[in-house]
Amino acid sequence: MSQTDVADVGAQVVTVEVRDRVAWVTLNRPEYRNAQNSAMTYALDDAFTRAVDDDEVAVIVLSGNGDHFCAGHDIGTPGRDVDVEFERRAVMHWTHVGQEGGDLRWARESEVYLGMCRRWREIPKPMIAMVHGACIAGGLMLAWSCDFIIASEDAFFSDPVVRMGIPGVEYFAHPWVTNPRAAKELLFTGDRFSALRAQQLGMVNQVVARDELRATVAAMAGRIAQMPRFGLALTKKAVNQAEDLQGMRAGMDSVFGLHHFAHAHNAETSTDSLGGLDAKAMAAKNKAAANKGQA
Ligand code: ZN
Repeated sequence: MSQTDVADVGAQVVTVEVRDRVAWVTLNRPEYRNAQNSAMTYALDDAFTRAVDDDEVAVIVLSGNGDHFCAGHDIGTPGRDVDVEFERRAVMHWTHVGQEGGDLRWARESEVYLGMCRRWREIPKPMIAMVHGACIAGGLMLAWSCDFIIASEDAFFSDPVVRMGIPGVEYFAHPWVTNPRAAKELLFTGDRFSALRAQQLGMVNQVVARDELRATVAAMAGRIAQMPRFGLALTKKAVNQAEDLQGMRAGMDSVFGLHHFAHAHNAETSTDSLGGLDAKAMAAKNKAAANKGQA
């Protein structure tokens, strides 16, 4: 795999460059703050699959092109592709296309959100999320699927979906990657929290100046790349198993039910399963709340 492979990975919504045994996988919809649609999800999966198969790759780094890491799931760009059929890889289920109501949403989100993030968490090579700018809602899911996060000082995080009446994003890792009380605060308010706060909570490993971010991640990846591949794979599995023994997997399964109950309640009582809030309305509300917080 080399930079010349960029063109055949998902119409460039994801780019890949292999350098010094590190696969730099980059979200590439900068004009939409890297909002994640299904095209991007499957391009990411293609990129990760090839990185796993490529003996030259020891470590995978996930980052975002442009000013932000990822603004979340695509709920409002022209490339939003919620009704598009895709090859199912994460779970064994029928297609969401042509289904209705909860049947549609369950099929789709089991595959493209919860299922895919779980699949990526089990990638047997170390994965570092390199986060700058916004890392919001579905963006958190991508960063959390990686083994750890190195962020720049300008990075900020939030899961504001309580505004839609929904108890957190589909990959409900919040209480495990922070702690239960912090998770409640972050979810109840939907507020942005800084890279420094995320580090204090244990969610982010390192915070560095923006212009040092790539070099810091490259240095860390380089150190890890010197370790034996199979040893790293077993070590990753060991820690993931410990996390699951702390209830993460079972917890996510139970919360996925609450999440879908919320979608259904919205569909029943408002205009749609997102409580009538599109990307623009969400952004406006989040911005207003952020300004209020600073006043
Ligand atoms: Zn959902």
